Amino acid sequence: MSEPDPGPNEFEQIARLFRPLTRGAPEALDLLDDAAVIPSRPGFDLVVTKDVLVAGVHFLANDPPELIARKLLRVNLSDLAAKGAKPYGYFLGTSWSPDFGWPERQAFASGLALDGEAFDLRLLGGDTVSTTGPLTVSATMLGWVASGKTIRRGGAHPGDLVMVSGTIGDGGLAWLAAVGKIADADGALLRRYQLPVPRLDLIPFLLDHANAAADVSDGLIADSGHIARASHVGMRLDLSRLPLSSMGKAWLAAQSDRQAGLLRLSSLGDDYEIVCTTSVNASKHPDMTVIGEVTAAGFEIQIDGMSVSVGSRGWLHT
Ligand code: ADP
Ligand code: MG
Repeated sequence: MSEPDPGPNEFEQIARLFRPLTRGAPEALDLLDDAAVIPSRPGFDLVVTKDVLVAGVHFLANDPPELIARKLLRVNLSDLAAKGAKPYGYFLGTSWSPDFGWPERQAFASGLALDGEAFDLRLLGGDTVSTTGPLTVSATMLGWVASGKTIRRGGAHPGDLVMVSGTIGDGGLAWLAAVGKIADADGALLRRYQLPVPRLDLIPFLLDHANAAADVSDGLIADSGHIARASHVGMRLDLSRLPLSSMGKAWLAAQSDRQAGLLRLSSLGDDYEIVCTTSVNASKHPDMTVIGEVTAAGFEIQIDGMSVSVGSRGWLHT
């Protein structure tokens, strides 16, 4: 077997792969300087988030390079959505593995180009290294929000409603499908695993109504718990109200233990939906489902009116 095509030298690679992704942003200085320069914007706060993806852990080693790139941007965009920040640009860290040669890098860059356009992002800088380990890519994503308006995890009040967007559990089921543990005849679950959809569409609603928000990447129960902890409040969630897709409903119906199934759907990660709390009298949103309320203390999970005990790591029940 031949060695992977190493392609042009490092500077040429940066010029060819990455310079077009700046989309002409003057801040990037054509990726020829030591750093980018971002002028401050009066009246705005810069919201900054970072996610690192490792082959075999956060994506499958044989996922198409374009989709790895797009997932990298999207998981970061999901964090910006939860904070109410409008996406602006990103810094990219690429740690190329031996099997990831020039054609794969070009495919990776074309994925970044596609979603960079779709989400109006500019590449501002980064770093490129090689590793003998698994492919590792990271992005530091920047977004702008009106000064002081960033939605935090820590703003929930007792009496608030807890609501979640979209449907829950599909990301986790998609992972189970991706590793061959459940069937995925039409590939819909795999697509959802490989290409999550960040809920940037919810930003106006969240800015107007959310007291606290987080994106659902660790699982609904864990991420709701993060809000409760950061806000020094409690929560009561009713998993019988969990919004499920047709795939989620079908999977749940096939489980012998409905309670364990609901706990599993709300503990698997990778949903990239938004969980937030709002005042009781705040407007509702057609794509958000109320699943519980904020209490003074304690973290309680109910299913069909029965309390279920949740272990510190997620979903153990008695
Ligand atoms: P230094 O060695 O001074 O840290 P580099 O030679 O690594 O700088 O990078 C030169 C330029 O190329 C910088 O503007 C840097 O931001 C950019 N760059 C390097 N790697 C990447 C990457 N993976 N994505 C985007 N920009 C990159
Ligand atoms: Mg330098």
